[in-house]
Amino acid sequence: MLAAEQEFDGCFTIVNGRRQPVDRWADLLFQSAYWQDDQRTIWHLDELDPVYCSRIYGFIVRQEDEVGTQLAWDATRGPDPSGDVAWDAATRSVDALLELVSERGWISRTELMQALSRRMRGRPAVEGECFCGYPVAEGWVHSSCYAGMEMA
Ligand SMILES: [Zn+2]
Repeated sequence: MLAAEQEFDGCFTIVNGRRQPVDRWADLLFQSAYWQDDQRTIWHLDELDPVYCSRIYGFIVRQEDEVGTQLAWDATRGPDPSGDVAWDAATRSVDALLELVSERGWISRTELMQALSRRMRGRPAVEGECFCGYPVAEGWVHSSCYAGMEMA
């Protein structure tokens, strides 16, 4: 039963419990938990050290214009939201996307870049969540949690 085995998890298609690589790293801009390297290996941002996260951050900053143009082109070329469109047509209108990418520095405000900047400062990638995957909130003890630990 293909339908039962194939799921979707934010940005990734999941086949038999495994996340499948996205076609382009820019497809990951609007989430805060993962990075995919140039070998198409998918990483939890919490597994990557701050120096590496900082390198990814620098790489993405330099791609801002190119990626903005690509997203705008994807968004405006036609009524086909399926496939590898990086932004989700269901959650972001074309106008909202064009407005987003028109501002200088837009890419630094994406979820992925916010997450990378948290990791560069040694904090967990996902705001409000610990390295263990559980919430940072009253009643939760995280004293033995660390970056790269096995996620819940
Ligand atoms: Zn924890």
